[in-house]
Amino acid sequence: MVYLDHAATTPMRQAAIDAWVEHAAAVNPGGQYSSGRAAGAVLAQAREDIAELLGADPVEVIFTGSGTEADNIAVRGLYRARREAAGTNRVVASTIEHSAVLETVKSLAQTEGAEVAWMEPDRGGHLRDLSALDTPAAVATMMWANNETGAVQPVREAAERAAAAGTPLHIDAVQAVGKEDVHFHDSGATTLAASAHKFGGPRGSGILLARRSPVPAPVLLGGGQERGLRPGTVDVAAAAATAAALREALAEREAENARLAKLRDEFIERIVAAVPNTLVTTPEPRLPGHAHLMFPGAEAESMLMLLDSLGIEASAGSACSAGVHRLSHVLEAMGVATEDGMGALRLTLGRTTTAADVDKVVAELPAVIERARLAGSL
Ligand code: PLP
Repeated sequence: MVYLDHAATTPMRQAAIDAWVEHAAAVNPGGQYSSGRAAGAVLAQAREDIAELLGADPVEVIFTGSGTEADNIAVRGLYRARREAAGTNRVVASTIEHSAVLETVKSLAQTEGAEVAWMEPDRGGHLRDLSALDTPAAVATMMWANNETGAVQPVREAAERAAAAGTPLHIDAVQAVGKEDVHFHDSGATTLAASAHKFGGPRGSGILLARRSPVPAPVLLGGGQERGLRPGTVDVAAAAATAAALREALAEREAENARLAKLRDEFIERIVAAVPNTLVTTPEPRLPGHAHLMFPGAEAESMLMLLDSLGIEASAGSACSAGVHRLSHVLEAMGVATEDGMGALRLTLGRTTTAADVDKVVAELPAVIERARLAGSL
């Protein structure tokens, strides 16, 4: 099997599995007795480790149930906390956000009276016009790197401009943590979301970094855990596994980025040479493992099915909803033509990817694309 969907999720690291198993029996870390205190100590250590690794203070680390949850808590919570004090219902967001942010922003507009100023990407998927950030808003939100194209966004400039306007900025760094040099305090963000399963931790474990002020208004109500931002008994084993995965991912980051970027660049070059009319979607800066390509005229569903039958697992660039493929909102925002975007293929390399994997795909892809183009022309 050749697994090339590391941006969707990447296999758990052994260090994370070991930490998870070691603490699987941990009790409620809030318990006022010795087993509770022992669980609390493991949680505190995970919090400290993550804070140190991501340039935050331990109190700023909030454990959540996913990256999606971290995004929701931050964007909706900051809007609710700031709307009145800021004297504006304006929200600034980009059109290429992951649905965890996009749907939250749309819901703020539909149910809480927000007026959204949208930032548009250029043809390569980068947000270059950040002028919407210069007008004060209740909250602004922007991703560090795009999950589909891998395009790395100018988040530091965005944070400076948002700060100059007095606007809190949420950064969705779910794709960036483990690959980019993410330092919370240096980033200038007010809140930042990460997700363990993107860097070799368990699925269902997210991180929200949240400064002491301004603090998001609680979106979930309950027992007050995690500064009241994410109430509910914390999963100690998941927190320990997340910290273990992050430590290892960051220790390997530079060497692994160099290995992946080289492998990915050769991969793209060889595909372009072997498959006629291949379009490379995103120029630098982009994440090292992302190869986003478009094969105009090819039918996404056929590409994925044919690849799967050959033991190659990848993702389409189009969105599949109820069995119908349509252009993804990211490619649409970039102004990609429907015919090109419907033939988009996202191949994302990761820790387990080898040169032999790349060889196999390069050998099989020309025939796959030829057949998918035939299917597209029927
Ligand atoms: N944000 C981005 C950019 C993502 O790529 C993803 C996951 O695909 C998420 C948010 C959601 O993370 P999770 O799967 O942990 O809910």
